Amino acid sequence: MIAITNVRLIDGKGGLFEDATVIVDGADIYDVSTTDAGQIPAGAQIIDGNGMTMLPGLIDCHDHLASMGYGLADKWGLTEPLSQRHLRIASVLKQTLETGYTTVRDGGGLDAGFRMAVDEGLVPGPNLQVVLDIITPTGGIGDHASPSGYHHPAPPNPSLPNSVADGPTAARAKVREMILGGADAIKTGTTGGASSRPGLGPKDLHMGRDELEAIVDEAHAHRKRVMCHALGGPGLRMAVEVGVDSIEHGTHLDEDPDILPLMVENDVFYIPTFSVYIYHRAQGTPHGRARSEELLEHHVKSLQMAMEAGVKIVTGTDAGGWVHGNNAQEISCLVGAGMSPMEAIISATGRAAKCLGLDDRIGAVETGKSANLILVDSNPLDDVTTLEEGRSVRFVMKGGETVVDML
Ligand SMILES: [Zn+2]
Repeated sequence: MIAITNVRLIDGKGGLFEDATVIVDGADIYDVSTTDAGQIPAGAQIIDGNGMTMLPGLIDCHDHLASMGYGLADKWGLTEPLSQRHLRIASVLKQTLETGYTTVRDGGGLDAGFRMAVDEGLVPGPNLQVVLDIITPTGGIGDHASPSGYHHPAPPNPSLPNSVADGPTAARAKVREMILGGADAIKTGTTGGASSRPGLGPKDLHMGRDELEAIVDEAHAHRKRVMCHALGGPGLRMAVEVGVDSIEHGTHLDEDPDILPLMVENDVFYIPTFSVYIYHRAQGTPHGRARSEELLEHHVKSLQMAMEAGVKIVTGTDAGGWVHGNNAQEISCLVGAGMSPMEAIISATGRAAKCLGLDDRIGAVETGKSANLILVDSNPLDDVTTLEEGRSVRFVMKGGETVVDML
């Protein structure tokens, strides 16, 4: 057993305790004491956490850990040998874990082998959920075609099925193919975005309602959640109405405020992904920059209206194609857009666990949960930016195993 004493505890569910002791037994949290430290079992190893703040291991509900750029050659896997790419991804996994992220849901591009390798202990990394790739019709956000409509003749990675499906029957079959390939959740998209091709903008619908209904129905039949990339316009409304489980981006929710109560009623999570647009604005294509500039005001307003309406908001960076290792930037973004630091931390812990359907095991520091814990040498409630790039992280434990110890 390990007893971590004298910590300020932010428990991931809104609780704040100034002098807590947390006891870990094997892979799980055995006891959390917030009143006195006199209950330490004999023989337990004691870690003095004086001056430290403990949080649950952080969770990113939307990243792209295998993504290293937005160019076509990158999407087709032509910029380096596959082996080198896979080792690069392994280093990203390690880096992400060491910055305090013990769970990440990948929004496309990462094959199931990475999850299996982490679970087997071959490489250090966060616990992963993968979707493999984004199911959309021809020309949609998941169609990695050239500007002339040319498709790469062979898949760059045989572990990632081609994600294009036209018509409800093909869309349904594609969901089955992703699940067969090891997908933990299903990803689709109903609109363009900042980085999508010219002519497919943030409010342009590119999928039929019958196709989306087939995807959601089939995914739910397999008890898989559906992440849906949707920025605004009719595709955003359709996604909420059909019953996806999370809206990714939702930059123009402010223009359709009557969707918000429906999101609350249907239990649809909102993952705004502010981080990625910082990079699209600064480094994107000319049309990507213009789109990201245009949506900024709507995006902030959308978050504030969603908070007001009681929509469940969780963190996801979506920033993999631009940067790795700064998943906590999204926590800062939420605070910058008007969320309190405590709420933003819940969005990256307890509520994020609910979004992934893992709240029975992770997302909170409480008895019986998996021992995913971090210690930081700051009080993030005073300044959440101290979490960025793992700057304040001094200790990381995943499933009871210490993976970073700089105490
Ligand atoms: Zn994404």
